[in-house]
Amino acid sequence: MRTNIVTATVDDFHALSRRNKMTTEVVAPPRCQACLSTDIQVHPASRRTGLVIHECRGCGLHALAERPELDDLVELLDVDRDWFAGWVERTRGDVIDSSHAQVLDRLATMVGTGDDRSLFDVGAGEGGFLAMARDKGFRPAGNDVATGAIDLARERNGIELFMGDLSTLGDIGQYDVVTMWCVLAHVPDGNRLLSDALELLKPGGVLYLQTPRWSAMDTAGMAAHDVTKGRSTRITDRRLALHHMALHTPTSMRTNLERLGYEIVSIEPKVRYSLNTADYLGSLGVGQKAAERLAKPIDKLLERDLFFRNVIDVYARRPH
Ligand SMILES: [Zn+2]
Repeated sequence: MRTNIVTATVDDFHALSRRNKMTTEVVAPPRCQACLSTDIQVHPASRRTGLVIHECRGCGLHALAERPELDDLVELLDVDRDWFAGWVERTRGDVIDSSHAQVLDRLATMVGTGDDRSLFDVGAGEGGFLAMARDKGFRPAGNDVATGAIDLARERNGIELFMGDLSTLGDIGQYDVVTMWCVLAHVPDGNRLLSDALELLKPGGVLYLQTPRWSAMDTAGMAAHDVTKGRSTRITDRRLALHHMALHTPTSMRTNLERLGYEIVSIEPKVRYSLNTADYLGSLGVGQKAAERLAKPIDKLLERDLFFRNVIDVYARRPH
């Protein structure tokens, strides 16, 4: 069965790992991939998924102890057009469009105006962001690893994406801007992705990324997870699993990017839920009726930016 990394159940991933005989060997001692500290708290394995979360006591990064191979993930992600279109249906178009517009306006102020500005979107999906970038005067380019995304981007937005991960591209040092909307947490090796992105940028070019953040909701979920020794894991399983392999803090993000050679411009926690609320609650295991009832008051909070700040927005530069 073809599925998608964002909505795949843990069982899908376990089936994948069994099929591919994924290694579950944990390298000792554990090391934080953001700040390289070995001062790591190992939380109890989830009884439902068997997954183990490492918490860095230095920078606060929470990350999965075990990672799949990139090739195995790429295979899982290679969903077809109709599956991808179904996924897009479940997202909040208005929230996504207004976030895209805000980010593009800020990027324009950072790299200047003019039609020669180039922007590369990593994991560009159906290409809605790149289409808006093109409307605002950027020269758009991007990649994806799902055939369905490549097809939809062409069909809906007339954008031709590269098929494959960044390491397969030869466009070194060509772009004014590189963007990643919720891509970093999806890859097994975030350092490699960030280094590849740095190479795509011209000197002085800007990286924008959005990635899920360790929030108050996660702290509460982890407390339940710990006190029940991995039995009560509804939140931790949803928020930190093979579809989101790392949750950053502003400190871990800053440390990670500076270590790789970026100059930080800003790192800001934001409220941004791109899935419909009822679907999001459903993914936390809330029944459909209850999810529909709960969605209304939560939507009210979201409208006023009062729900958990679930992501961080990051702007950083490749030094001159
Ligand atoms: Zn760390």
